[in-house]
Amino acid sequence: MPEVERHSFDVLVIGAGGAGLRAAIEAREHGMRTAVLCKSLFGKAHTVMAEGGIAAAMGNANPNDGWQVHFRDTMRGGKFLNNWRMAELHAREAPDRVWELETYGALFDRTGDGRISQRNFGGHEYPRLAHVGDRTGLELIRSLQQKVVSLQQDDFAATGDHESRLKVFQEFTVTDLVQSTGPEDGPDHRGKVAGAFGYWRESGRFALFEAPAVVLATGGIGKSFKVTSNSWEYTGDGHALALRAGASLINMEFVQFHPTGMVWPPSVKGILVTESVRGDGGVLRNSEGKRFMFDYIPEVFKDKYADNEAEADRWYRDPDGNRRPPELLPRDEVARAINSEVKAGRGSEHGGVFLDVSTRLPAEEIKRRLPSMHHQFKELADVDITAQPMEVGPTCHYVMGGVQVDPDTGASSVPGLFAAGEVSGGMHGSNRLGGNSLSDLLVFGRRAGEGAAAYVASLSERPRCPDEAVARAQHVALAPFSGEGGENPYALHVELQQTMNDLVGIIRRAEEMERALDRLADLGRRARSLTVEGHRQFNPGWHLALDLRNMLLVSECVARAALLRTESRGGHTRDDHPRMEADWRRRLLVCRASGDGVEVTEEPQVPIRADLLALFEPTELQKYLTADELEG
Ligand code: FAD
Repeated sequence: MPEVERHSFDVLVIGAGGAGLRAAIEAREHGMRTAVLCKSLFGKAHTVMAEGGIAAAMGNANPNDGWQVHFRDTMRGGKFLNNWRMAELHAREAPDRVWELETYGALFDRTGDGRISQRNFGGHEYPRLAHVGDRTGLELIRSLQQKVVSLQQDDFAATGDHESRLKVFQEFTVTDLVQSTGPEDGPDHRGKVAGAFGYWRESGRFALFEAPAVVLATGGIGKSFKVTSNSWEYTGDGHALALRAGASLINMEFVQFHPTGMVWPPSVKGILVTESVRGDGGVLRNSEGKRFMFDYIPEVFKDKYADNEAEADRWYRDPDGNRRPPELLPRDEVARAINSEVKAGRGSEHGGVFLDVSTRLPAEEIKRRLPSMHHQFKELADVDITAQPMEVGPTCHYVMGGVQVDPDTGASSVPGLFAAGEVSGGMHGSNRLGGNSLSDLLVFGRRAGEGAAAYVASLSERPRCPDEAVARAQHVALAPFSGEGGENPYALHVELQQTMNDLVGIIRRAEEMERALDRLADLGRRARSLTVEGHRQFNPGWHLALDLRNMLLVSECVARAALLRTESRGGHTRDDHPRMEADWRRRLLVCRASGDGVEVTEEPQVPIRADLLALFEPTELQKYLTADELEG
């Protein structure tokens, strides 16, 4: 077996997006020697792509806003399936996390009187998204990186070594977690986390990072789907690492299809068109010129959304005296509506609908508020959004499901394994509201960093990485080189994406998901004998072969859970079970690794604390809760 380079830290953070960096900062501030590992270049994480903003009830644009209103909106958006404790912590702590970012060096757009400006977004009752034009993620990552550098400067002053307490390793892919296997680890094989194994993308050389605590902050799973706003990094690695280590995943059936991705030209299909376009006044029209969203306001939202254009337009000037435009319904509703319009033959030439801001705002205002969108459409589609509508359609954007964690500490059920950000589950229930991810990253990144540090401090001795486990991880990583005459990983990836898109996509049916599971089983068999050409030095085919192992496992979670949930809720729409069922709200579908595959079991949802339930009108609760829950 090739030699393995070794490093040793107290806390290992896998992922350098918002969640990972915030966790690393916290762990380092609690005195832990901390390493951050990332698959791409430092600064290139998904977070940098975030456009619209970060949701926090600061009340700058409307003093009626507060954490309770944000909590209510988040629960409604998630159709009450959210882990209520996470939704509570998130709503309470998000404003502090935004302010804290400014102490790290972020500078958000301002109101006329100098406060942080906040914009409208779908599902948020008041303007709530702090933003920097439509490049908010860039500012978030930039300021977190600035904080990392400032901590490293402190460490240099104290130790003479910038990287003595906080070190970033980029272009390194983790392929396996390593766990201790001592007798104290118990019969369930959930050994304590002892480190992580992986390879340098450039050289293909292996390395082992020993650490008693690992924080997963690896983001989402979008690359399992054909049309997605996600980048190449989103292959569900953290989800799969957690599963294989013995942790559980929840809510995996809920995948968010953002209503507005680009649909043309084909080379850019899926690239995101930010919700800010609608927040800033953009409207959706079909090929007949009709503003169709008025036809798609579901019963549960009828009292909150305008049913006519005049009221919807008045709302932009007088939000307290009017109901909101239906273009700002939660994403799941808008995505389904667009899907229905296209299916009914009222779509655009390239299979989308029209999103128009050109007739709603002056050209200069569009360029000022939406500079990236203006640039994106001009460069990629030769469309001037100040003069023409955009063509848009649903694109796989975000996974609500993820590692089941303790809300307060981010701890999973595996000792020493923590998770934060998109890789964790529960916070967003069945559907995430726009802007609630960036705030989630900071709130729960900080908590996971703190949780990991406290865990390490509580240990009397460090768990050991067993040699056999390291050898096994090497063997698995090298396997694609040993096959002969097997298939090419690119061909398998295309088949996987097509399968997920066609059979477990935005609208689902039992027989289609059963077919998807058969195909996934077949792909899994074929993936075991994949063949890659060449050697280990920068070899994207090999990298994809290893990523496929994760994508297949995670796709199986999505398909199995989606097949079992016989209702429609948030990011899970069943053609054969179109109603939302109150009884299903009480049930979580929990995925665990079983053999080479996945087993899904039903577990009860933790009941909502009474004082949080009291924040809602009883008439609203009747839409979501069962009769006995309401009585209790
Ligand atoms: P990421 O930022 O993706 O970071 C993941 C990290 O994990 C990366 O560093 C990656 O290299 C690393 N990694 C992954 N696997 C491995 C591995 N095996 N080994 C080592 N490293 C690994 N949300 C909002 O709230 N507001 C918005 O305006 C908004 N706009 C968006 C626009 C776009 C185009 C997209 C795609 C998403 C948007 N979102 C938005 C969602 C939000 O950006 C993401 O959910 C969020 O950034 C995820 O952050 P994260 O820290 O969990 O993961």
